[in-house]
Amino acid sequence: MIKVHVDMNLCQSHGECVYAAADVFELGDDDVLRWKEEVDDDRRAELEEAVNVCPMAAIRLEG
Ligand code: SF4
Repeated sequence: MIKVHVDMNLCQSHGECVYAAADVFELGDDDVLRWKEEVDDDRRAELEEAVNVCPMAAIRLEG
């Protein structure tokens, strides 16, 4: 399992991560980001894409 951390002090709800991995990240109606905190290893490429496209460098993967 890969742990997904988002620093909500940095996140500005740009939503690029949602495009990179739509079933991991989601912007609610309130524009607040929600995400799965544990994701299967076979999704690593999408998660790394989300890390790379986040303009705030708010996403960190563990494991
Ligand atoms: S791309 Fe980064 S700043 Fe934008 S919603 Fe995702 S975590 Fe937040």
